[in-house]
Amino acid sequence: MKQARIVVVGSINMDMIAHARRLPLPGETLPGEDFEMAPGGKGANQAVAAARLGAAVSFVSRVGTRVHGRALIAALRAEGVEAAQVIEDDAALPGIAVIMVGREGGENSIVYIPGSNAALAPADIQQARTALQQAQVVVGQLEVPQAAVLEAFRIAREHGVWTLLNAAPALTVDPALLALTDSLVVNETEAAQLAGLADAIASPEATARTAAEVLRARGLPCVLVTLGAQGVLIADASGLRLVPAPRVQAVDTVGAGDTFVGGVATALAEGRTLDEAVRLGQAAAAIAVSRVGVQSAMPRRDELGAEFA
Ligand code: ADP
Repeated sequence: MKQARIVVVGSINMDMIAHARRLPLPGETLPGEDFEMAPGGKGANQAVAAARLGAAVSFVSRVGTRVHGRALIAALRAEGVEAAQVIEDDAALPGIAVIMVGREGGENSIVYIPGSNAALAPADIQQARTALQQAQVVVGQLEVPQAAVLEAFRIAREHGVWTLLNAAPALTVDPALLALTDSLVVNETEAAQLAGLADAIASPEATARTAAEVLRARGLPCVLVTLGAQGVLIADASGLRLVPAPRVQAVDTVGAGDTFVGGVATALAEGRTLDEAVRLGQAAAAIAVSRVGVQSAMPRRDELGAEFA
């Protein structure tokens, strides 16, 4: 297999997580039980997932360095992700999620500050032109302005580079962006939203099938709908098929979709078929959900076994 070269355009955040027995009421101060900081953001997560699986990954992003931004960039580099195309903004905050978790109720409250993620602009993408041209696959999501992802996909399309859009979180997507998308990856909620389906069809799988057909009819060559423990529905010119997920004991499914996207992008960039790419992405996601954490739970290539060596 050839060495995968991937560019991920997207968000990067610092998650700051305070654990307490329960959530505080407005105005109340509670003693906490634990605290952790962990890098996140869909873009950074997908970049790390692909790097751990052996891809050469270049990350294109904007990072405010008023707090924690330099630590975020250092964490990416420590994972082997190339950060030369990350623009540092000394005047801005990075994306920050302040998360409170109540142990007894299992609930959480989150304040999310988009920070510099919201300022990623088409002009920022232009400086990554060479990296974009040299990749086999360019990956984008929707936690940064769509105009920035659109610019990256435009450059990719001009140079015959495969584009993979993870349309998450569920938002309305610019039709111009969909027109430049070679593979669309969505979970069933995002699929239903994008296809304009009313909420409940009979089952998640039925929703996924209907949504995938609607999206294919709009001209998307390849749609992948993730269905959690059930697996992934593939819709392309060969028809619809469900690839089941490996059976594992899931302990933390946060970031499952990002690990899957990083795996699919890596496998496609290596020249594997779509069905193989979906199996590799799912093998990686299944390991990630069986461990606690997001980036820290993502597997390295040798953990996937001989089939994917
Ligand atoms: P998202 O995190 O974006 O909502 P999903 O929950 O659909 O996405 O998960 C993405 C992929 O991760 C699934 O298609 C599957 O391959 C894998 N996955 C998620 N949950 C499990 C699970 N409990 N067991 C095995 N694989 C899982």
